Amino acid sequence: MVHGDVENRGADKVQSCCGKTARNIRERTIMRTDKSNGAQEAKNRFRTDRLRMVEQQIRGRGIKDPHVLKAMEEVPRHLFVAPDDQSSAYDDNPLPIGYGQTISQPYIVALMTETLHITAHDRVLEIGTGSGYQSAILSRLAKDVFSIESIAPLADRARLTLNDLACHNVHVRVSDGYEGWPDKAPFDGVIVTAAPETVPDELIEQVADGGRIVIPVGLHYQELILLTKERTVVRSHKIADVRFVPMVRKEKG
Ligand code: SAH
Repeated sequence: MVHGDVENRGADKVQSCCGKTARNIRERTIMRTDKSNGAQEAKNRFRTDRLRMVEQQIRGRGIKDPHVLKAMEEVPRHLFVAPDDQSSAYDDNPLPIGYGQTISQPYIVALMTETLHITAHDRVLEIGTGSGYQSAILSRLAKDVFSIESIAPLADRARLTLNDLACHNVHVRVSDGYEGWPDKAPFDGVIVTAAPETVPDELIEQVADGGRIVIPVGLHYQELILLTKERTVVRSHKIADVRFVPMVRKEKG
């Protein structure tokens, strides 16, 4: 017994040379396992919330495009909001993302994406990167997404989140969305997630023949409209009444 004790102490001593006793190692391993179990549990909980969100708020309100539904099921919306808001990330409403801006309600993201009718070859222009959530949804459906944000710190954060999620076909740029992205035009689809008073001519010019624009238009309350371009003819269809943050002109100079 005594002998055993001595042996044990000796073993502890040898191990503690590098700061680790056997118990120490065991406790740390348990702590690490607890931590990763906790992270996995949180991940599972968010996934359950997300699937419920798609079922009730998206499919339940008539969105049918299987690609849109799949993207909404897969993209972790909670990673696009502040840690304090993560538990509300799958609720049926917009959430603040700082700088007076918001991430849109999930249903509106799905509705706008379905309305845009994106195919896998499409190049899409997005105005208003914000958190990058809408860009991440688009990145799963389109070939390339060119997204413009006027507030630099939002663009920086969105780039990081999109990079973490390996959305490498999203290209974020800080500039004024009223000018579009002429160097990358023409686009098969343009999606605008801030509201101008009227549709900017530059955006219509940068849409390809056969292309679409989904855009909220109006000062305080807006109509979400779909514009389709066939050669020089542009047709407009009202989709829904909506409320978006204003599309602000960036001051030059
Ligand atoms: N699509 C975003 C929601 C964006 S909210 C998301 O999924 O999180 C609208 C965004 O449009 C804001 O980030 C705002 O800064 C940006 N915005 C407003 N006016 C703009 C302009 N003229 N050009 C580019 N971005 C603009």
